Amino acid sequence: MSETKRAYRYRFYPTDEQSTILAQTFGCVRFVYNDGLQTRSLAYAERGEKLSYGDLSARLPHLKQTYPWLADVSSVPLQQALRHLNTAFENFFAGRARYPRFKCKQQKQAATYASNAFTWDGETLTLAKMKTALDIHWHRALPRHVKPSSVTVSKDGANRYFVSFLVAEDIPALPIITSMVGLDLGLTSMVILSTGEAVGNPRFLQQDEKKLARAQRRHAKKRKGSKNKEKARVKVARVHARICDRRRDYQHKLSTRIVHENQVICVESLAVKNMVKNHCLARAISDVGWGEFVRQLAYKSQWSGRTLVKIDQWYPSSKTCYECKQVVDDLPLDVREWTCPACGAWLDRDINASKNILAEGLSVSACGGSVRPVRVKARQATTQ
Ligand SMILES: [Zn+2]
Repeated sequence: MSETKRAYRYRFYPTDEQSTILAQTFGCVRFVYNDGLQTRSLAYAERGEKLSYGDLSARLPHLKQTYPWLADVSSVPLQQALRHLNTAFENFFAGRARYPRFKCKQQKQAATYASNAFTWDGETLTLAKMKTALDIHWHRALPRHVKPSSVTVSKDGANRYFVSFLVAEDIPALPIITSMVGLDLGLTSMVILSTGEAVGNPRFLQQDEKKLARAQRRHAKKRKGSKNKEKARVKVARVHARICDRRRDYQHKLSTRIVHENQVICVESLAVKNMVKNHCLARAISDVGWGEFVRQLAYKSQWSGRTLVKIDQWYPSSKTCYECKQVVDDLPLDVREWTCPACGAWLDRDINASKNILAEGLSVSACGGSVRPVRVKARQATTQ
């Protein structure tokens, strides 16, 4: 058993009163976040000073005096905005993310309410400053016996509202099994398993993409600032939202299945940022959303007592012959099958790679990985 924070997300339909309060709250949250980001950046640039969450939080009352309209909304989401900013900086300093950026009105809007800013009676949710409960569409059950530690409301580009409950839950570990798997990011299929199975066609969104292109063309033709432009923008956002929903749904089903079926899961810690620079691969990579998929595998493995091994992104999984471990110098992307020059084995590019990922993953978790020269050679080959 491990106690885990788990988020449950539902769509809801605000009343006019609620959507007005939410619009105000989103605006104030954005303002406080952006102000905090600017203050922190300036303090560092001008005086080399690193401001903490506490420093910025202490400025809030002063900020409210200067901008009295900040007091119209609940102060809790404003404080949470500064916490989020702090997390964004922590992620930046740990090398996990880019430098925090200013939030703008066109993006997804969100506000987080800690437990002192909402009431939850096990059935209805009422947020601070609101007279009525939210009209939530319960498409699946929320564990009723626990009190959510926070709720986050958001509005996406397609003007849909969501509420996400964060609850602490005991998730029982799955029974231990013996199967292990290596996964490779495929280009003709979404994921290749070391068992030889190819799952998912990354182009399954092709029809939606055509719709998206059409909506984007229409949007481009409308006059700037007109009502029709805004209508066209919402249409584009709706198609986007549909693509994201379908992809997310697909990834969740697949990551759950893989975690259920395997005790050890090995993947490449693929640097998507580097790969997206390569234009031929760019579309395919962002379509399949490898980064999000690996993130799901990671937290689901942790919940279920499985092991996820991420191997070095420079490990030449495609260029190594699984049979004899010979590394070839070059393997162009269009080569789907090849014969090993050293041992004569006939290899399917993707299956060979996923088998290597499994073998490398097991050796990494057992003794710290393969020898250095292999990686150096691979890095040279990749940057050519
Ligand atoms: Zn070979």
